Amino acid sequence: MKRREFIINSALVIGGTALLSGCGKKELIKSESQVVRRKYKDITVPLLALGCMRLPMKGKDVDMQELEKMVEYCMTCGANYFDTAYMYVDGKSETVMGKVLKKYKREDFILADKSPIYKMKTSEDVRKIFNEQLEKCQVEYFDFYMCHNINQNTFATYRDVRMVDELIKLKKEGKIKYLGFSFHGTPEILREVVKDYKWDFAQLQINYLDWDVVKAHEQYNIVQEQGIPVTVMEPLRGGGLVNLSDKALAKLKENSNNTPAEFGLRWAASRDNVVTVLSGMSNLEQVKENIQTFINYKEMSKEEEQLADEIAKIIQSQGEINCTACKYCMEVCPRGINIPANFALYNQYKVTNNKMLFKIYYESLADSEKADKCIKCGLCNKNCPQALDIPKLLSKVADEYNKISG
Ligand code: SF4
Ligand code: SF4
Repeated sequence: MKRREFIINSALVIGGTALLSGCGKKELIKSESQVVRRKYKDITVPLLALGCMRLPMKGKDVDMQELEKMVEYCMTCGANYFDTAYMYVDGKSETVMGKVLKKYKREDFILADKSPIYKMKTSEDVRKIFNEQLEKCQVEYFDFYMCHNINQNTFATYRDVRMVDELIKLKKEGKIKYLGFSFHGTPEILREVVKDYKWDFAQLQINYLDWDVVKAHEQYNIVQEQGIPVTVMEPLRGGGLVNLSDKALAKLKENSNNTPAEFGLRWAASRDNVVTVLSGMSNLEQVKENIQTFINYKEMSKEEEQLADEIAKIIQSQGEINCTACKYCMEVCPRGINIPANFALYNQYKVTNNKMLFKIYYESLADSEKADKCIKCGLCNKNCPQALDIPKLLSKVADEYNKISG
């Protein structure tokens, strides 16, 4: 599409009040050949966003030609939300996104970035790093800005450097439009964080496999209770819900004409109060497929929700550890270890080989729920219909985590 045509389209979809019809939390704004949008505060946001953590690579560098094509395609189709972070792509993501987005008018794209808590030593660092990020992205403000990856390891620093206070100042200066946080911690910490500020949004890991297995719904419910809108990360669980096992894929094909990616993205987008779903796309083909999903987007039916549960159970039962997540073992565990969650993390890791995600998920369990807290009493084994040697398998999970964490 030529530049002039894009401007006309963007006026429709970004300003777009003529297209708004009610815009309740699940109502959609549709227009031809454009990704559906949802109203969010004083703007509209595409339901699909480009996550900039798995950009196309040529050796050690980002493949700029491919990235330009991906961004152009996104912009043409109204998928104008880009989510980067300080440490994505070994620190290169912000710089390359800045270069690519420079050719578009600032008001035509929505840019999200995140404050790297692990880099903070003092309150002054928050602003210093923020300014560095503005420079790298070649912008004067961020639309969405987050405290990145609050969890049990980063929570103390987040509080010590008074991150929220510093970011509120930047928001008042007009350098941040919407202030939020991304979260990978325990429900206990999340309950603390939501009290710190009247957050504009929270970025959570939500997908149909984790919803019950690692209790993603618990985090979602905590932010819902506070009325905080959600941006979704890892809707396809780092690719794990794209490469389904034969049995899970057969189940999907029997009951739906969606591809695995389409099904997973639609599931995530169909939760109430979801502003946008981030997908870490790595090539133009993926961009085209995902955009098509959100041009033709339809909320999930009850039958499809049921199908997602069934597929999740199949995935869960087919991993290296044959656990069906029945949770009978947990009824007798004196330590409260979340046995199926530990096994689910491990199984998923073995399919995707995604070490970072395995580490993040494991660390998001409460300390008492982690595999390494097993005292090997063996009580759980008697309750397991799959006859698993649970303490032995938990040791395997804990060993793998220790290996990865070095
Ligand atoms: S062996 Fe470990 S997981 Fe099983 S009941 Fe005992 S403490 Fe819990
Ligand atoms: S009882 Fe066995 S199959 Fe059921 S959740 Fe526990 S480990 Fe998994």
